[in-house]
Amino acid sequence: MYTGNERLSKNFKLHEFTDSEKATKLGVDNLAQLTQQNYINIEALCVNVLQKVRDMIEVPIHVSSGFRCRLVNKAAGGVSKSQHTKGEAADIYLIPAESKGWTLWDVLKLIVRHTDFDQLIWETRPNGSKWIHVSFVTYRKNRHNKLRTNDGIHYEILEI
Ligand SMILES: [Zn+2]
Repeated sequence: MYTGNERLSKNFKLHEFTDSEKATKLGVDNLAQLTQQNYINIEALCVNVLQKVRDMIEVPIHVSSGFRCRLVNKAAGGVSKSQHTKGEAADIYLIPAESKGWTLWDVLKLIVRHTDFDQLIWETRPNGSKWIHVSFVTYRKNRHNKLRTNDGIHYEILEI
């Protein structure tokens, strides 16, 4: 039904949200599991959050994980009702060499100040990796919920 080449917004294509190393390793076709509602959700996340920030910083925002079908989500250790399984969430990061001085923390602040997001999580790990989990919903009001975690298990309110 979908090829992955569908353009969701000016700078984001569907495959960025469906490509998954986990799925490849598992031999699961993540894209084939995408429903029309999942597609609509990813598109809404792009238009209302990601593209808005992309337009402000004018450097690429990369997606490490977007839509996860149930099997991929389980393998990724995601909670069963993860917004990733509905296409409502994406984990994003910047590549310092191409980000012209913009940091991931800048991206976080822009999301908070300029978009109508549902949940945002500042994700760091002891090995130094970091990303932002951000979600958007269309079926109710977005909560503007802000959290931080350094292990993916314990969460604290993010004060910003
Ligand atoms: Zn996530």
